[in-house]
Amino acid sequence: MVIRTVRRRHPGKEKSSLKAYVRMNKNASVTPGARKGRGKGIAALVALLLGAQAFAGTALVGGRLIDGFGHLPIANSVILVDEGVIQQVGTVDSLPVPEGYEVVSTEGMDVLPGLWENHAHLMLTGHSDYSHWHPTYADRFASEIMPASPVQLLLAGVTTTRDLGATLEDSLSLKRRIESGEIPGPRVFISGPFIQHEPYPNTEMYRWGVSGAADGRRKVALLAEAGVDIIKLIDQDKMTLAEAQAVVDEAHKHNLKVVAHSHRPDEIRRGLEIGVDNFEHTGLTTAPEYPADVIRLLRERTATGRVAGGPMFWTPTVEGLWNYEFTVANPEKLDSDCWHRGLEPSTIADIEESIRYPGQLAYTQLTPIRKPTLKRKFLQLREAGVVMLVGTDSGIPMKFHCQSTWNEMDVWVNVMGVDPMDTIRAATYWGAVMMGVEDKWGTVSAGKYADIIAVKGDVLRHINLLSRVDFVMKGGVIYKHDGRPVEEAL
Ligand SMILES: [Zn+2]
Repeated sequence: MVIRTVRRRHPGKEKSSLKAYVRMNKNASVTPGARKGRGKGIAALVALLLGAQAFAGTALVGGRLIDGFGHLPIANSVILVDEGVIQQVGTVDSLPVPEGYEVVSTEGMDVLPGLWENHAHLMLTGHSDYSHWHPTYADRFASEIMPASPVQLLLAGVTTTRDLGATLEDSLSLKRRIESGEIPGPRVFISGPFIQHEPYPNTEMYRWGVSGAADGRRKVALLAEAGVDIIKLIDQDKMTLAEAQAVVDEAHKHNLKVVAHSHRPDEIRRGLEIGVDNFEHTGLTTAPEYPADVIRLLRERTATGRVAGGPMFWTPTVEGLWNYEFTVANPEKLDSDCWHRGLEPSTIADIEESIRYPGQLAYTQLTPIRKPTLKRKFLQLREAGVVMLVGTDSGIPMKFHCQSTWNEMDVWVNVMGVDPMDTIRAATYWGAVMMGVEDKWGTVSAGKYADIIAVKGDVLRHINLLSRVDFVMKGGVIYKHDGRPVEEAL
């Protein structure tokens, strides 16, 4: 078989309604398979008009497939993609490439489901001073900042993300624009504003306070009706029990899961009491471990599966803490231009200025004292039976969207001793289970959306090869190939 390598299967930068039509057509808001037939005629017509070759589908051929289920990898895999959906998965021996398919070689590569960044802040891009960032850039969140963040994630191999805490209107608009194909980026599950006892000064636009149980219910219902995908709860220990319970119950009534901060032991105790589905972080303090009663409660929770949504999830977000001293000692990674994409030169200069002295940020002064506690807490959580998710707080000071996710995976494997396969599943399959969408995303298997990445080499031996993802496909569209962005698709 002659293997041709073709970069793209959809037209480029034409500023015409044709492009909009094609983008609409690749919008993946329908269930897999639902668009079959109709789209193919359009794709063929468009290809004809633009003088490009029309393909019946795309075949990814030759690489080793790590499918996200935790199976033994499949050598010499063949993945057939059509209409944005994975049609069949097999091997070069068992699954011939049908006539008319575009063949993309994945020889010498590991092929994986697109990564999930389970904790991102798309309205942040690494600036060190929130009190400067929010007032200065609030009116540019929608036009500049929030479109820049997702494209950086996408090129890093992230095809799905959870944006946990942002202004409601900007979040909704970003989600819509990505789904319509106007902005390239991962699929975004949004929380909109944090729900909490009281917003901190000058953060009212993305933090909603709750005053009484009825108010909690009303605000969650408002978010649900506006179209958020998840509720983000913090400081639940500062709310009354009735308020916090109302928030969770109302969220669950709308089929939304609740993701909650876990910085203080009381935040965890309260969170377990009211039935949150997913905790984030490992605490802002320097305490060496979780108190015994918290671990006991957690073990009870993982033993009973009290919440209908399944396992107790936890996104520990450890890499920023673990790597902080390395960054101070060698800040060279901050000079990478990978985080410049989509940002104005003045914005880039402002961010650079803010992190010029990485060791002097107030934000991180406790970090070296917290670092030695991380392994113990991580181990306690694992032993308590939580299902961990890969997420990083991407966007917070010095933490750029193009660098975050793979660094977390690297720390899990090379510091925390997590098996590479488990780490990959925490960055693919489990995120989809948490969001209740594992029938559509999270694995490379027939019937799922074609969110697929590939990287040269053996990621099960060298997880940080994921720092240089060579190939990124989302919904059947190729955004990165041979290690380079496919500009026509971006
Ligand atoms: Zn966060």
